[in-house]
Amino acid sequence: MSDQSIWFFGNGTADGDGAMKELLGGKGAGLAEMSRLGLPVPPGFTIPTTACTAFFEGENILPSDLLEAVSQGMARVGELTGKRFGDSDNPLLVSVRSGAPISMPGMMDTVLNLGLNDETVVGLGESSGDPRFAWDAYRRFMQMFGSVVLGVQYSRLARELDRVRGEREEADLTVEELQLVVERLKGVIDSAGKTFPEDVNEQLRLAIEAVFLSFNTARARFYRKSRGISDDTGTAVNVQAMVFGNTGETSATGVAFTRNPKSGEAALFGEWLPNAQGEDVVAGTHTPLPLYSAQTGADPSLATLEATLPEAFAHLEKLQKQLELHFRDMQDIEFTIERGQLYLLQTRTGKRTPGAAVQIVVDLVNEGIITVEEALGRIDAGMLEMVLRPVLDPDAPRKVLAKGLDASPGAASGRVVFHAEDAQEMVSRGEKVVLVRNETSPEDIQGMTAAEGILTARGGQTSHAAVVARSMGKPCVVGCNDIVVDYARQLFYAGDTVVRRGDFITLDGASGTVMEGQVPMLLPPTESGSMHQLLVWADERARLTVRANADNAHDASRARSLGATGIGLCRTEHMFFRPDALRAMRQMILAEDSRSRTRALAQVLPLQRDSFAEIFRAMDGLPVTIRLLDPPLHEFLPTREEDVEAVAADLGIRAGALRHRLEALEESNPMLGHRGCRIGITTPEIYATQVRAIMEAACLVASEGAEVLPEIMIPLVAIDKELSICREQAIATAEKVLEEQGQAIDFKVGTMIEVPRAALTAYKVAEHADFFSFGTNDLTQLTYGFSRDDMGKFLPGYLKARVLEDSPLSVFDQEGVGELVKIAAEAGKAKNANLKVGVCGEHGGDPKGVRFFHAQPVDYVSCSPFRVPVARLAAAQAALSVGDV
Ligand code: PEP
Ligand code: MG
Repeated sequence: MSDQSIWFFGNGTADGDGAMKELLGGKGAGLAEMSRLGLPVPPGFTIPTTACTAFFEGENILPSDLLEAVSQGMARVGELTGKRFGDSDNPLLVSVRSGAPISMPGMMDTVLNLGLNDETVVGLGESSGDPRFAWDAYRRFMQMFGSVVLGVQYSRLARELDRVRGEREEADLTVEELQLVVERLKGVIDSAGKTFPEDVNEQLRLAIEAVFLSFNTARARFYRKSRGISDDTGTAVNVQAMVFGNTGETSATGVAFTRNPKSGEAALFGEWLPNAQGEDVVAGTHTPLPLYSAQTGADPSLATLEATLPEAFAHLEKLQKQLELHFRDMQDIEFTIERGQLYLLQTRTGKRTPGAAVQIVVDLVNEGIITVEEALGRIDAGMLEMVLRPVLDPDAPRKVLAKGLDASPGAASGRVVFHAEDAQEMVSRGEKVVLVRNETSPEDIQGMTAAEGILTARGGQTSHAAVVARSMGKPCVVGCNDIVVDYARQLFYAGDTVVRRGDFITLDGASGTVMEGQVPMLLPPTESGSMHQLLVWADERARLTVRANADNAHDASRARSLGATGIGLCRTEHMFFRPDALRAMRQMILAEDSRSRTRALAQVLPLQRDSFAEIFRAMDGLPVTIRLLDPPLHEFLPTREEDVEAVAADLGIRAGALRHRLEALEESNPMLGHRGCRIGITTPEIYATQVRAIMEAACLVASEGAEVLPEIMIPLVAIDKELSICREQAIATAEKVLEEQGQAIDFKVGTMIEVPRAALTAYKVAEHADFFSFGTNDLTQLTYGFSRDDMGKFLPGYLKARVLEDSPLSVFDQEGVGELVKIAAEAGKAKNANLKVGVCGEHGGDPKGVRFFHAQPVDYVSCSPFRVPVARLAAAQAALSVGDV
């Protein structure tokens, strides 16, 4: 990599280009590319990410050769702008902004208007002919520099402006009043024990260091961790000549997305503020205006850029199209208009909601801008789950409390909290929360991650809250002027209603509505639209097929509509927990002999048969793998003393006898105990009843004209003999039922591979199996020797000490568990060429897991219905070797 210390851009040229994101960061590469395209970019230079890494490797000091290069860069920028840094007559001011290879909106620091001091402020006032503007820039600079670089609390600085301003608008302050604000800001900085440097070179050095340091703040680290972004990239720093959006009525600032970042609609979308600077829009402290009147959701009473500064707007429209075509993706553009002249300050791939992401790539393919393969590779498979988030039930009653801006779609209900820490704390106790703030700042990121949804009283569509919520796929309402937040009393007012901390509210991010209580929700349709199109493309390219784990007809239908090609795991235990079945089950467990057991189970049979029949109907023509009973029998018996009495009375036996049976069934390690096929062997009546229920249901549904493909699955096999016994019995029962019913239905009998021994002896197990299905939940637990129910006790410590990077129960362990899968799948197929191999643990829906299974002799993965789209896309990405898992 190059050791060039600064990379110049501006005036139609650039040292770098758009492909150099790793070195120049996303912003630096975008500026270089825009400059090369001859777009109106104020000149500047980028200090590359390598300098940041060197800075951290050294003593957090900028080396003198870099400072020398910076000083030369400043001279060159000065020449191009006809100004000089630190000049008392016509001073050059610069912005100093972060820009990592992968953008982290709002996470790192920015300083604007750098280069002002008591002398240059006068020069700026004279050279611009607008002293008010100069003093306003100075007070802005001091606020930003004071907080970002010197570490003085921002609220202490912001308070000084509010004090002088009172009830008036900022624009109403006179030069003298702004001078007073500056005086007071200096006082605040002094009283915090800090010194505001008058030397502009010192300002610049400190600001560059502060931007580097901001790469490693706790919040930036958290953001990267939550997005799986590496900590090693460092950030670049962009030093760029300031242009001013706050020099009067023909000046403005704004943000434009080339497509709608919420819905993906192919239409320019953005906001602007007249006579303002960029941070006013982004920080969410002001509620900005729409760019043009036809913009989706634009309030017709608000002044648009199109109407106010039509030439600049027309120019912006033209350039945004050019940028999108050039970068072949939706762009997020920051612009400033200085006295009617448009400048572009940034272009980057725009953050978008998961739903918009899908819409945009499908449109880009249809517009001939990208290929299908590129489209499939651009979507984060894990995020697809969010596209199908619940929406409000249109028929449900609701009481609307307030209306704001529809910043990020989807519906969310939760208890109101006002502080990020509070959100985290309540969520750790199992509560769902909605975070309510005046505006959010990067400090709130962890609370936003924990919350179901976000509501802010201020800010626009491009405020921090809106951008971050969209990138997280969380419902969000911003700029909700109808509410008044009182942090001190932990409540907000919405008209006459007072909503306190802990009260439930519901947000509809698609309409910007805030409602009282918990409004019922529905799942959105799935059979059409861009998501459907994307997944059809995915299926055409994937090798693995995707089934679903579903235990009832409702989930099965949902899974089918999401593209599942069968049921890979139907857990049957919950069928025994229905009150009528539970009683019979208990009688069965307490029975003394096989006949009484069979008699008790006869009552369960019709219930199970009905459930299976419904699932078979929903899955007409597709395979359904039904797993026979897995959990230990004691789970069906009461544990609390008062329940023991009641259950004994209900069953007409003595409480003492029940207690005795309970003691006999007790196990010190139930997960490693008498469960799965071990029950099948010791209490064969249970499996026989289940197989009968399955086959009777199959005959019934087949007689209705449906195609039924039952697959009977034996759990927790460790020894091939276990399987051979259970299989023989299952086949005997199934054939008996078919004979009784006079039907011929093809059925399969296979096994889960979830005990390491079964994996290691798969060559033997396969002799008795039509299929293998990897139960990677148990296989992970048993490979590590971690209890999947108790892992929470030590996992946080393990993650902190980096013994583990992730929980192996959610992110598949390729190295250890993967090796067992590989051994077993290869040995199984070698023994039995017709063996079907699937994965039905949670990892079947984990994109990283899917990528691994693609590379093994595995035929399908099976996951929860919601993750079916995730797995379908991940399977295509694996086949194409695209995507970023
Ligand atoms: C498994 O162990 O991976 C599995 C699918 O079964 P369960 O989660 O029901 O134990
Ligand atoms: Mg299991």
